[in-house]
Formats: sequence, C-alpha cells, structure tokens
Amino acid sequence: MENKGKVYILGGGSGDFELLTLKGKRYLEEADCVIYDRLVNDIILQFINPKAEKIYLGKKNTEGGLIQEKINKTLVEKALSGKNVVRLKGGDPFVFGRGGEEIEELIKNEVKFEIVPGITSAISVPEYAGIPVTHRGIAKSFHVFTGMTAKNNTYHNFENMAKLEGTLIFLMGVKNLGLISKKLIENGKNSKTPVAIVENGTTGQQRVTEGCLENIEAIAKKNDIKPPAVIIIGKVVNKRRKYRWFEDKPLYGKTILVTREKRLGEEFCRKIETKGGKAILLPMIKLESNMENFLYKDLKKYKALMFNSPNGVKFFFDSLDDMRKLGNIKIGVVGDRTREELEKYKIKADIMPENYLGMELAREMTKITKKGEKILIITSDVSPLKEKELKSQFNREFEILYAYKNRPLKVEKSNLLEKISQTDYITFFSSSAVENFIKCLKNDVFSLKNTKIVSIGPSTTKKIKNIWEGDIMQPSIYKGDEMIKTICKD
Ligand code: SAH
Repeated sequence: MENKGKVYILGGGSGDFELLTLKGKRYLEEADCVIYDRLVNDIILQFINPKAEKIYLGKKNTEGGLIQEKINKTLVEKALSGKNVVRLKGGDPFVFGRGGEEIEELIKNEVKFEIVPGITSAISVPEYAGIPVTHRGIAKSFHVFTGMTAKNNTYHNFENMAKLEGTLIFLMGVKNLGLISKKLIENGKNSKTPVAIVENGTTGQQRVTEGCLENIEAIAKKNDIKPPAVIIIGKVVNKRRKYRWFEDKPLYGKTILVTREKRLGEEFCRKIETKGGKAILLPMIKLESNMENFLYKDLKKYKALMFNSPNGVKFFFDSLDDMRKLGNIKIGVVGDRTREELEKYKIKADIMPENYLGMELAREMTKITKKGEKILIITSDVSPLKEKELKSQFNREFEILYAYKNRPLKVEKSNLLEKISQTDYITFFSSSAVENFIKCLKNDVFSLKNTKIVSIGPSTTKKIKNIWEGDIMQPSIYKGDEMIKTICKD
C-alpha cells in the first residue's frame, strides 16, 4: 500500500483567478488528477499539468447528495490507484464546501490528505464591491451563514441572529432572500439596515444591488438577481459609496473573446482581467514545434537571425541545448513582445524596426549585415515572407526556418455561437486564426452583428475584410497591449 497517492483539498478562490494561492497553483501544476466543479474560474484549470487527468463533477448547489458520494468515491479510487489528486473547490474548501465530508471518506480509506485554504467569497466578494466585512466603530464581527434550508426544513435561529451586531453575510441566499429579510425584521432587526447583493463577484460580470431589509426582496426581483451571489447585511454596506473600486475599471462589464493560441492567449486574458474585463479564451490555432530536424551547428553559416514572433523565439530557443552555438550572430526582432521573449533567454536584440512588420525588419537587417550574407528567418509555416522576394529586394541571402507549425483547432459551431453571444469584442491576432474562425463558423458572419471585431494589425485585418463588411478596430501600433487600449477607449 506504499504507492497510495495523496489528496489535496484545495480552495481555488472565487471568481478572479488570481485569488488562487501560490501553494494552490503549485499543487495544481504537480497533480496527476484534478477533480473540480462549477465555481472555479476556467483560467485556473489551465495551470493543471497537461498530462493530468481532469474530472468535472459539478453540482448546481451544495445540497447535491448523489454527486457528493460520487466525488468522495472518485477521490478515494484515484488516490488508491497511486495518483496525487487535487480536489479543487471554489472559495475556501471548508466554507460550505463540504471539504470535511470528503476528508472523512479519505480517513476511512486510509488515504493521506492536505488542506489548502482558499480565499472565500464571503470576504472577497464584499471586498470587490468596496464593502469591508468589519470596520472600526461600525462592525466588530462578521457572521457567515448559508441561505439554504436544511433537509427537514429547519432553518437558522433568527431570534439569535437578529441580535447580532456584526455584519451578516449569506452565501447561497438568493432563493431565500425574502424569508431571510422578513425573519430578521420580525425578530427585531431594524428594517432600514442596509443590504447589498453582489452577483458574480470579483469577475467582469460583477453586479451590485443595494437596498435595505424592508425593500431588498422587491428590488432583487426587479433586477432579476441570480446566483452565485453574496448577500451582505449591515451598516458596512454604506462604505461602498466611498470605497467602490472594481466597477470603475475600464473594461468592467465587458466580455472579450480571445482567439489567440493558448500560451499567448492566456497572457492576453490576464491583461484583460486586470483591467476588469471578462476574458474567454478560445484558441483557434495550436502551435507545434518543428525544430526536430534543425541542426544548430549549422548556425555558423548565418550572419544574423530574424524573429517575427514571440513563439518563433520560444520554439527556437527551447530546442537549443547550448547558447554558445549562437556565437556572435546578430539578431533582429519584430515587436516588443518578441523582444521581451528573447530577453527571457538573456539576449538583447540588435535591431527592431519601428513598424511591426516582417518586411520592415528585413529592410533593417541590411544595416547590420553585408551584401550577400546569410540571414535566417525564424517563423511559422504559414508566414507570408518569401525568400526570393526578400533576396531581390534587400540583396541578402535569406533562408526561412519554419520553427513551428500553425494548425487550426476545430471548434464546434454551436460552441462558437454560444461564446459569441456572450461577447462584446472578438480579438484576432493572426490571419490563420481568422481563417479557421470563419471555417468553424461555417461562414455565418451574420452571427457577429452584435459584437465588435478587433484586429492586431494590417494582414489580420485584411483577412477579416474578405468576409466582414462591418467596422474593424485596429490599433496604430500592432501589439496586444495596444488592442486593449483601443478597446478601453471604445
Ligand atoms: N466554498 C465557497 C462557497 C461555496 S457555496 C467559498 O468559500 O466561497 C456557493 C456560494 O458561494 C454561492 O451560492 C454564492 O453565495 C457564493 N459565491 C461563490 N463565488 C461567488 C462569486 N464569484 N460571486 C458571488 N457569490 C459567490
């Protein structure tokens, strides 16, 4: 029984994926198997080791008895088969997370476990609405309740609850909001006590509804409030007027679809989320290394290397075993992001054109090379750059190395349409992604009528124009950060 795995009961934080702890991230990266449910941000799932088994066992609310049994059973089974299992939960595992029940089952089966705390929505969600759960002189305590009734219909002792002077916080309380507010008033709580309801807290879809005990039910009905939401009752709610911050971010309330390949797509999503927007990552292409057959010792032949994408840099340098093979070869790059990628390998680019275009770089390369010298262009297999054309124009021996293959990723039309319907902006970073997007959409461009299209630069824009007559937003500097600025301005 020595080869048993261990189970990590891990809280993933709520909503904003960066509320995951460093420890949580490391365990996700190291796990052999991850079991997760609904309230976990999709982006967190991308930290999981690609080789790990991912199991979705969702439940609409925490009363789902059957599904809990299945979760318990799966945890034990996977651990006994020798896997290290992460049980990933929204918020904190012990705040209405049934972490305890899972642990009981593990103990029964002699499976070892660890508990990784998570930031609970009971605190983080009010905070993102600018509501402190305690505050000197206003609230000396806060109390967290479930809004669900127990199976036998028993409920909280409202007489005691109404006497509490601290902040009252309800999770899973949307359904019983009317009952909660009525009972609190009946038991002596001031009917004018401020109440806030925060739906989808800490995400770009966060919405805050305010009222007081006597009118909150009606207001909630009018606003069609839906779970997940946290209800906060108490004077601290008034602090929001001064302390609100999250909804004032420039992309707050906006959803942006990112069609970029996974690695850089994730990076872009992070930037959107820091600006308060919601990012949906739906890569339209995938990249594969094509460096197996490249002989790095041949690098001696070239005077200079030319990179027109961060991915070219990554694939080229990831396969290089000894940096000295570069000798003192000159290097040119297109774009800040490509330059930054190169700097990760501790190399400074010799040249970078002002314009973010491969042709411009080729022209600039003539400044650091002589007539007839060899220049290696490191790019993808769909790059439009042509050796002959460059050679005749710039008098150098250009050779192209296809460092990576760019392949379309099949996305079902229904899935794509669903994502588009939630989206305010669709972002495109390459003609190849545009091409595949249209293909997956089966040319149904009509479905794009309610979204705005944002393109990174001229060749991508040109591709979109082939099929799309509407406006295309494109920054004057062809880079991701500039696309975000363009959207913020809009
Ligand atoms: N263990 C979790 C709570 C699980 S119960 C935690 O510590 O946060 C599920 C409830 O959490 C939801 O019904 C809702 O009340 C609350 N919740 C979780 N994420 C939320 C979010 N992003 N916004 C608002 N409420 C959220």
